[in-house]
Amino acid sequence: MSNKSAGWDHVRGLEPLSLCDWPGKTCCVIFLGGCNLYCPTCHNFDLAWHMEKLPVISRNDIGKFLRNRAKWLDGITITGGEPATVPNIVEILLEIKNVSKLPIKMDSNGMFPEIIENILEQGLVDKFAIDVKGPYEKYPALSGQGVTAESAKKNLESVFEIAKCNPDAFYFRLTKVPILNDADVETARGYLPDGFDLTIQTYVPPRRDPALAVHDASTTG
Ligand code: SF4
Repeated sequence: MSNKSAGWDHVRGLEPLSLCDWPGKTCCVIFLGGCNLYCPTCHNFDLAWHMEKLPVISRNDIGKFLRNRAKWLDGITITGGEPATVPNIVEILLEIKNVSKLPIKMDSNGMFPEIIENILEQGLVDKFAIDVKGPYEKYPALSGQGVTAESAKKNLESVFEIAKCNPDAFYFRLTKVPILNDADVETARGYLPDGFDLTIQTYVPPRRDPALAVHDASTTG
């Protein structure tokens, strides 16, 4: 397997049809394993930290699916995990775009602004859904110590700058997890550039004990 195909083994899930992952669009969802954060409230914890537990969906099968189903879809959502951590994500997106000819939305925790900018400049993603998890000082707790407050601030501020120049390509969302209060939500909303609003998502507890997340994350290879 060449280097260029390395990231394809991160494809660990495919939802053929979703009416809610891309507001206003009928899309399929492609799930990419691996994440740089360890949020105790993560819903996709196996995908994020133990993708080896989930079967690979082959590059061929993804191609076949997209060729057969693209005409019934408005777009494709790429989610994770954190897609920006996947090796060769640019080449993967390019192939998905070329095969499907569909608009692509990518979910991201916003911690890799350079990758987001590169993908955007190449016209590979039409919409980024970026998590603003809460006030910067709560990022260490929100992310299972995956990122410091300073890094979260620096990365998100870079993403906000990119969004200011490409307002149609971004929206921002926050899940109101239990450690956030109403003032925290307003603080996070206040980070956004003018003209953007924060989509608030209701928190649904994951089907596991959040206290186990830190342990699980610490055992992630
Ligand atoms: S950023 Fe957090 S919630 Fe999102 S996949 Fe990674 S660990 Fe899970």
